[in-house]
Amino acid sequence: MQIYLDYNATAPPAPGVVDAVCRVLRDTPGNPSSIHAPGQKARAVLDDARRSVADLIGARASDLVLTGSGTEADNLAIRGAVDALNTGNRRRLITTVIEHEAVLATCAAMEARGWRITRLPVDRSGIVAPAALDAALNEEPDAGLVSVMHANNEVGTLQPIAELAALARAHGAWFHTDAVQTVGKVPVSVDALGVDMLSLSGHKFGGPKGTGALWVRRGLRLLAQQTGGKQERSRRAGTENVAGLAGLGVAASYAHATLQSVAPAVAARRDRLERGLLDGVPGTHVNGAVESRVPNTTNISFDGVEAELLLIALDLEGIAVSTGSACSSGTLEPSHVLTAMGLSASRARTSLRFSLGADTTDADIATVIARVPALVDKLRRLSQTAASIGNRPSVGAKK
Ligand code: PLP
Repeated sequence: MQIYLDYNATAPPAPGVVDAVCRVLRDTPGNPSSIHAPGQKARAVLDDARRSVADLIGARASDLVLTGSGTEADNLAIRGAVDALNTGNRRRLITTVIEHEAVLATCAAMEARGWRITRLPVDRSGIVAPAALDAALNEEPDAGLVSVMHANNEVGTLQPIAELAALARAHGAWFHTDAVQTVGKVPVSVDALGVDMLSLSGHKFGGPKGTGALWVRRGLRLLAQQTGGKQERSRRAGTENVAGLAGLGVAASYAHATLQSVAPAVAARRDRLERGLLDGVPGTHVNGAVESRVPNTTNISFDGVEAELLLIALDLEGIAVSTGSACSSGTLEPSHVLTAMGLSASRARTSLRFSLGADTTDADIATVIARVPALVDKLRRLSQTAASIGNRPSVGAKK
């Protein structure tokens, strides 16, 4: 039996999503840009999906650009804003050290193009202090764009976005938030957050992989990053993935209808898992803010245990977890998020992320709580044995 606790990497399709994708692929073959009836039928499918996504974030449908991923939405926000602002004298971008690679690498690319980048630090719990943004904005009045993620993918910490966005606005800078890890998990309202742009990704809340959206405040002029067509009001050229986006719309409607009841149930299971692991395994610590975080995520350090080894041991028992960002797992680099929070590289290497979803059951949690202590114990004993072998002079070694 598989126990899946890696919802922050991707979530299984929500009810109705697979059917919607298949139905649209089969029954709606038109191109949404065509003016004939089959084209208009495909256009109607896109319009529905757009409305459902907009409802989920309290936005107007016409202010959404449908994209091929959360990464693409982040790229469009940052590159599109930079291109729009490039001729002015506000050529500085402020972001944080804990962003997802989609933002970090895009900011680095803008740095290579001559933009100045300020990367704000976070405290031990992973939170960006509004005072730090205020200081950065006051330092020099040249910030054009601020990009701060809503929740971190590795530890789940939520940022005080409304406060940060208000500061940016007061200084005349645009504010983008990567809300890939919050949309569909906690209530998100673009107006309550007060942001100018917001990225989301379908597969993080039950939509198909390869779907996403960027919400852009009306009146904000972004420059398209893909050219060659007038789709998405000339902000994203290319025929839309109609079937995939139909699935995104279904996932958005489902999340909208169930969020209020699902989120507390998921949080209760996450808390039970966390408590069970902290009580059942000595030498464990929770990383990141415990109060201000998404309801489904916990990131735990297991002293003396290489997290990659524990991940593999759990996988062999049919339990899927992660060491952090899916994109950077498979490398032995310590997490940039945990080290930015002040954890040592060696502690960061002992940290595992458990991320739950609507389908996680009480039985799943009980099984994980029951299995982890013995696995951790075994790995600790193995690493002590390996260390003692390493300290022993090997046979025939020169003195
Ligand atoms: N931003 C954050 C915070 C993420 O966690 C992810 C995916 O892990 C992305 C962006 C990228 O989204 P996508 O997988 O849709 O490209």
